[in-house]
Amino acid sequence: MDCFMSRRLMGTPPAVTDLNSGALREASVLGYHITPLFSYYSYHGPVFRVMLRMNRGKLPQNRNYGFISYCTECGNSQAFSWNELGRISCPCSDAKVSSSLVVSGPLWIGPLHNASYLTEMLNLAEQWGWTGNDTETHLGKLLKQMIDESDPKLPFGYIKLDEVASRAKINSPPLRTMMSALNKEGYAVSRSHIASNAIKTNCPMAVCIRIAKELQQC
Ligand SMILES: [Zn+2]
Repeated sequence: MDCFMSRRLMGTPPAVTDLNSGALREASVLGYHITPLFSYYSYHGPVFRVMLRMNRGKLPQNRNYGFISYCTECGNSQAFSWNELGRISCPCSDAKVSSSLVVSGPLWIGPLHNASYLTEMLNLAEQWGWTGNDTETHLGKLLKQMIDESDPKLPFGYIKLDEVASRAKINSPPLRTMMSALNKEGYAVSRSHIASNAIKTNCPMAVCIRIAKELQQC
């Protein structure tokens, strides 16, 4: 069964994962488990909308449901499972418990979209003339961006380039240049449909800062 949830939320992008988490908890009580087909953020509002697929039966252990840490010291974000809850630390503090960590959860930390579902949507949109190769529309661009975001190598959330720049004490690097530099170093990277000057990547903040500094010197 597929269902559509929409919620008007002020505030930060973790609200998308929070919306998924709420649905997951409610479904679990009813004996179902859910997976998001797509999660859409619209800055008009702002509104977060999630299309969910509900399947009968609970998952014994949901690895997509866990905790997110953000380090105010180095800017690094990480996901942790329930089992790791007592051992949350940031690489910048030598695996010691650190007061610089802000932990949120339990939250949905799995993928925000289902890539094959989005690809089907994109194909239909092309068939119906809503988007096409010659006429690039907002819808086509958005769906392609969401498909890029579905790369399973990409973690939850995104990194704002302004934060990288302010931590590196440089001007914000151009988005495209930063993305190709990360690609060259073997990291997965995509744009984020939620924030225009941000990237989704599995590259740690410290490495993003190093790369951004190197780009500045070119
Ligand atoms: Zn840290």
